[in-house]
Amino acid sequence: MEETEEAVQIQLSHSEARGLFLAALDDELPDREGERLRAHLDGCADCRTGWERYHRTAELLGRVERERVPPALATLIMRRVRRRRLFGQRGLFQAQVYYRVPVEAIIPVLLGVLVAAFLVLIAP
Ligand SMILES: [Zn+2]
Repeated sequence: MEETEEAVQIQLSHSEARGLFLAALDDELPDREGERLRAHLDGCADCRTGWERYHRTAELLGRVERERVPPALATLIMRRVRRRRLFGQRGLFQAQVYYRVPVEAIIPVLLGVLVAAFLVLIAP
């Protein structure tokens, strides 16, 4: 009993307190260590400022990472779904035929339009 209370009251040095920041942030600090860190932060404005800055930076980084991941993941999933739809059931050959025909049908039309536009431009 007395031993535990004594252990809690052992003051952390500034560098010891700061060394616990990472573990405290990840909730990996044992209760007793967390208690000591809190006790130090209560009595030390310097370390409290350091902790707040550390906490805020980590939060910011966490938010940036969280925001970045979902869109990339969504794109990846959509791409995979689309590819499966294209090639999954009909097969690669059919998918290619299916997508080539419209493009090849458009080319003569485009050429015709270009020739017509050219003729219109050079007409006196
Ligand atoms: Zn301190």
